[in-house]
Amino acid sequence: MRIAVFSTKGYTRRYFEHANERYGHELTFLEPRLVPETTTLAAGFPGVCVFVNDRVDAGVLESLYAGGTRAIALRCAGFNNVDLATADRLKMPVVRVPAYSPHSVAEHTVALMLALNRRVHRAFNRVREGNFELEGLVGFEMRRRTVGVVGTGKIGAAVARIMSGFGCELLAHDVVPSEEVKGLGARYVELDELFAAADIVTLHCPLLPATRHMIDDAAIGRMRTGVMLINTSRGALVDTPAVIAGLKNGRIGSLGLDVYEEEEALFFDNLSDQLLQDDVFARLLTFPNVVITGHQAFLTDEALTTIAETTLMNVAQIERGEACANAVRPSPKT
Ligand code: NAD
Repeated sequence: MRIAVFSTKGYTRRYFEHANERYGHELTFLEPRLVPETTTLAAGFPGVCVFVNDRVDAGVLESLYAGGTRAIALRCAGFNNVDLATADRLKMPVVRVPAYSPHSVAEHTVALMLALNRRVHRAFNRVREGNFELEGLVGFEMRRRTVGVVGTGKIGAAVARIMSGFGCELLAHDVVPSEEVKGLGARYVELDELFAAADIVTLHCPLLPATRHMIDDAAIGRMRTGVMLINTSRGALVDTPAVIAGLKNGRIGSLGLDVYEEEEALFFDNLSDQLLQDDVFARLLTFPNVVITGHQAFLTDEALTTIAETTLMNVAQIERGEACANAVRPSPKT
């Protein structure tokens, strides 16, 4: 199939070109994000491939359809950026990569924990400047610390396995508890109990109306003083001004983020020549006990390989008129 690949980066191209040797699709790599103004770039392409911050709303879908597009291939798991009801009405299949590597995200989550705990970000800068002072770099042993895992699906369970290896006490919260995570010795508790007891709170549930801003003033108020908070899931799980207040009053001892509520305007591009306009994000960057990465937890060789292969296989199935197990359908309410 002829596929227009939006939001292309160098790594997208490398992994898709390699995987495509098996599939033989005709790929055209486009750097711009898919937004209403860029839909015309897809004219004449039956397939459009998009990523997390591409906009696939009703208007964009109508424009793509008018230009001849007949299928949307998400190269990610989440599909909150797609108007599934409109796609369904236009009979445009939407396919995704439901699981590419929970281990990639889990390992990055633990990298943030260790960097914050042992102040690796500060030590790196000090040593480069010939400053070998240790004051301000005191960490703690992870062993026997209590880690609260919120959401114990594929990624949360992988984090629980790693933290179990460190000798941590595990608390968990999920609407559907996992037998595997229980088997690691984790105790499922209500959020209030998890917040009250955890030295580290790590978020791995999806962004839903029920989970939006689950970390707000009230939640932070229930946490232990000096708690480490990690979010590698979706930015809007966290009310950022509340977290800034928690950092200022010391309730939050350290914060690790791979996602940010307003990341669409920032992440995945080199903006180093521009003035940062997001004052909330700018405030976060001023704290010495905050480490932020730009939605890179998925970015491993294994995950990129799986993403490219699954996406191209999904499109091949659509092209052959076969049922695709990775198709996303609107829920009855949508
Ligand atoms: P998953 O579906 O396997 O697990 C999600 C878990 O959250 C499930 O067990 C579910 O029951 C639970 N859950 C749902 N509602 C909940 C609630 N109200 N409270 C507590 N738990 C609840 O998903 P996953 O593959 O583990 O991914 C988790 C999240 O990680 C995704 O939703 C996505 O937002 C994020 N993610 C981030 C990156 C990255 O690069 N930073 C990459 C992939 C996924």
